[in-house]
Amino acid sequence: MIKIINPSTGELIKQIPAVSKADVELALCRARKAFDQGEWPKLSLTERKKILLKISQGILEKAAELANLETLNTGKPIKESTFMDIPSSAKTFEYLANNFEKYLQEESPKLEAEAECRLLREPMGVVVLIVPWNYPLLIACWKLASALAAGNTVILKPSSFTPLTVLELGKIIQDAGLPEGVVNILIASGEEVGKTLCSDPRVDMISFTGSNVVGKKIIEYTAGNVKKLMMELGGKSASIILADADLEVAVNSALCSIFLNQGQMCTAMSRILVDAKIYDKFVSSFVEKAKRIKLGAGADFETQIGPLISDSQRKKVIGFVEKAKKAGAKILCGGKIPDDVKLKNGFFFEPTVITDAKPEMAIFQEEVFGPVACMSKFSSEDEAVKLANDSNFGLAACIWSKDKSKAQGLAQKINSGTIWINTYGMFYNEAPFGGFKQSGFGKELGKEGFLEYTRLKNILTDKTPDAKPLVNYWYGF
Ligand code: NAD
Repeated sequence: MIKIINPSTGELIKQIPAVSKADVELALCRARKAFDQGEWPKLSLTERKKILLKISQGILEKAAELANLETLNTGKPIKESTFMDIPSSAKTFEYLANNFEKYLQEESPKLEAEAECRLLREPMGVVVLIVPWNYPLLIACWKLASALAAGNTVILKPSSFTPLTVLELGKIIQDAGLPEGVVNILIASGEEVGKTLCSDPRVDMISFTGSNVVGKKIIEYTAGNVKKLMMELGGKSASIILADADLEVAVNSALCSIFLNQGQMCTAMSRILVDAKIYDKFVSSFVEKAKRIKLGAGADFETQIGPLISDSQRKKVIGFVEKAKKAGAKILCGGKIPDDVKLKNGFFFEPTVITDAKPEMAIFQEEVFGPVACMSKFSSEDEAVKLANDSNFGLAACIWSKDKSKAQGLAQKINSGTIWINTYGMFYNEAPFGGFKQSGFGKELGKEGFLEYTRLKNILTDKTPDAKPLVNYWYGF
């Protein structure tokens, strides 16, 4: 049985039977059959669009219920579930429904006179979608909407910590009239089923979002039979605050960029790099405001920061903070479990600000995945770029400056897949998102994200006027 825990209280929400090896086999058979023999890949694009729109509508109709469930299961503040996770999930289905047909149109190159080329976009086949616990419904919908729009059949595996909203999504999908076997949901621990699922030759593609450790395991599992992979992995992103930035806006946004979702974001700006000229002012304002962020149960609309996902995640975060202290970094605020007795059973941790961390320290290099901001100063833009790029990761970065052309110039020097200028965390269905270096490969969202779930076929037809192509006479017959 899989125990589903409420991170705000530590209480058991429910137990769900974990799938067996036989269930994995059934999901593989169903998905394969639905792709090879079923109607979904062959359905007219108009019919496919209608079903995608029904799923979007189904999510909106259950929005309040889904937001409550997401918060119950993850502990994230209900304000975030209500205004971000759930509406964005519906919007992604709607966006794909309205745009995938256009994205499938492939312009074929003109060849020399004797041949014609026709490029075709086809679905990949059976796609396994593996989703983490930090945005359970939203990331599932990013993957699912694209995979389905492209005509694939899927096996969706949510994190065993947070399967509740994905299970509800399963009902919405069923009501939308998707043919049998097109979407198969497996509730299981990744350790239990990951290898069987990912190494199976009936799977054509794996789209994975999660940690680097697991991402690397999946690459190993799949080496035996070669399949398409998408890897959306961890990050250690940097926010660069230039001296001419609007200080108040930069402080407020930097707070959001590390404390939203308790810092459990792949794009968390966990390294905040500030121009030495404004460093003291910036840090004192940041710390003063960090102390005022309201901790509380996810379900409370006043809550600004909820609990971490689990006790083990909190232990991991505490481990990073203790190690940083020992290595000589200073803790300006937080760094501990809150004293409030009302929070004692949840997995809370205070918003934490660290200074004096050296670039070689673990707190500066490794993904903490918790509400821990690490502040550093720089004296030149070159130094800021060097510090930002001093990471094995390359997921995202932020630049704060009133000089937009200077910020654009800096953005080009930063080795990350997404750079936000004077904003943070904005994801658009139209624009691709994905990392460089150890943050993985492949894109989610946008035309590029959708096309990841397709394969490109090239059909070449001979056009020589007298039907005598050169290859016919190669051997002189
Ligand atoms: P995780 O890697 O522990 O788990 C992710 C998923 O993989 C879960 O569904 C889990 O059950 C499954 N899994 C675990 N072991 C497996 C195995 N051996 N084989 C197959 N599947 C397995 O990650 P997490 O703790 O759930 O999520 C946090 C991580 O996700 C962070 O590193 C974060 O940066 C990353 N993340 C990345 C992005 C992105 O877009 N780049 C977005 C969100 C989260």
